[in-house]
Amino acid sequence: MTDARSSDIQPAVQAKVPALEQLYELSPTANATSRAKIAALYSHKSAPHWNHPAGDRLTHEDVARLSAFASEFAGARGARKPYPGERILAWAQSRIAATPLFRGRVGEGIDLARCWTELPTTTREDIASHAEQLVPDDVPLERMIIYRTAGATGHALLVPQDALAVACYLPLLDFALARYGVNTRFAPDDTACFLVGSQRHTVTYPTVMSGWAGAGFAKLNLFADEWPDAKAREEYFNHFAPRILTGDPLSFADMLEAGIGGQPKALVSTAVAMSSALKARLQVTYGCPVIDWYSLTETGPLGYACPLGHGYHWLPHDVHLETLDETGNVTTATTGRGEITVTGGRNPYIPLLRYRTGDWGRIDFDACPCGDPMPRLLDLEGRAPVRFRVGGSGRHGWIGTQDVATVLRRYPLVQHSFEQASDGACALIYRALAGASWSRGDLEAELRALLNQNVALREDAELGRRGAVDKVIPYVSKLMEE
Ligand SMILES: [Zn+2]
Repeated sequence: MTDARSSDIQPAVQAKVPALEQLYELSPTANATSRAKIAALYSHKSAPHWNHPAGDRLTHEDVARLSAFASEFAGARGARKPYPGERILAWAQSRIAATPLFRGRVGEGIDLARCWTELPTTTREDIASHAEQLVPDDVPLERMIIYRTAGATGHALLVPQDALAVACYLPLLDFALARYGVNTRFAPDDTACFLVGSQRHTVTYPTVMSGWAGAGFAKLNLFADEWPDAKAREEYFNHFAPRILTGDPLSFADMLEAGIGGQPKALVSTAVAMSSALKARLQVTYGCPVIDWYSLTETGPLGYACPLGHGYHWLPHDVHLETLDETGNVTTATTGRGEITVTGGRNPYIPLLRYRTGDWGRIDFDACPCGDPMPRLLDLEGRAPVRFRVGGSGRHGWIGTQDVATVLRRYPLVQHSFEQASDGACALIYRALAGASWSRGDLEAELRALLNQNVALREDAELGRRGAVDKVIPYVSKLMEE
C-alpha cells in the first residue's frame, strides 16, 4: 500500500508569488477587459499575499466544448432508474477496454447490462495506490494537472485532472444557483466569485473564468497574516463585491466572525456538514441563500441542496449514482442507506467505475415537489470537517486537518490518529514505517510549534492492524463535538 503521507511524495504545490504575466498565460482566452480584471484583483492595495500561479488554462476550442457541454447538460434533466442507462453502459464498456486496472479486474466480453451489480467497485485506495493504472491508454497526457485533495478526515490524495473537465463545474453551479433565483450571467468586468478558505496553508491566486464570460475569480485565505493589514480583508471584499462566495462551513464561520464578505447574492457551501444554526446566521447576515453543494475532488460536483429542503438533487447528467451496503448490494430509498457510488463523469484521467465515495446516503427516485426531475440523495453523511484549536490563542486560533497533515506528511508514519480532547489537550497515536530512520523529537517540536502546546506522542505498533474493530480515524476533535 502506498501512503499519500509518506515522505517521498512532495506537496503538489510550493508557495511562490506568481508574476502577473504568469497569470495571463494561464488564462489564454482572457481579452483585454479580463486581463485588466486579473490585474485589478492582483494588485489592489488590500490584496492578500498571493502564493500560486493558476488560471483555467482553457483554449478557445475548450470554451466551445464547454458551451456544448452546458447545452447538453441543460437538455438532459429527467427521471433516472436505479440501474445505469445506455449512455453510461456504453461509456463503461469503452473505459473498461481502455483502462489497465479495469481490464485486469473485469476482463473482456462481459455483458454490463446483465452483470452490472457484479462489477467490482473502486475506492480512494485505488487512486492512492495505483492511480497510473487508472489512466486509460487512449487519453493524451499533456494536459494533465495534479490536484491534491483537502484530505479533511482521510489521507490526502493526488488526483490527476483536466482543465476542461474542471471548467464543466461552472454550468452545474449555474444551474444550482438559478434554482435559487441567482443570476450567473456575467460580464468580463464583473467579479464573479471568491473561493474562501481559512487555514494556515492553502494556495491563493486571482484569475478569471472563461466559462463565466471572463469575469473575475479569486481563491483567498482568511488567515490574517496573509493580508497586508488588519482592514485589508474587509476592504478587498467590499471593493470587488463578488456575486458568489464559495467555501466550506468552517471558512464561512470565520468570515462571519470577522464581519467580512461584501454583499454576495449567494453562498455555496462545498462541504455537507454545515450546522443549521450556522446556515441560519449566514442567511440572516448576508441576506442571501446558502446553498449546500455536494462535490468531491475525485468526482466533481454530484448534488445540490433541493430548494424545498428535500435532500440533494443528483446534478450531473453524465454520471450514474447508486448506493451500496457493506456487502456490495444496491440499496434503495426504502431498503436503507448505502455508500454513494459513482460511475461516469468527465475526468479523462480517472474514469469512475462504481467508485465508492466513502459518503453514505439513500437515493429517492420519486418525483420531487420542487420540480427538478432528477433523483435526490437523502440523509447524506459526508466526511465531516474537523479542526483544532491552537493553544493559548483564544477563539480565533483554529487550524485545519490539512495543516496537521502537512507536518505529518514529512514523517514516515503508516497510520495515525490525531486527537484533541475536550479540554484542548492534543495527542498523536501513530504507527511508523518499520526500519525508517526519523526523529521523534523533531516531530514533537513541529507539532508543538503548530499547535502552540505540547502534543503527547504515543507509538502503537499495532495501530490499524486489529481488524474490523480497529478502524483508525485520522483526525478527531472532541472540542468540535460539543
Ligand atoms: Zn427538490
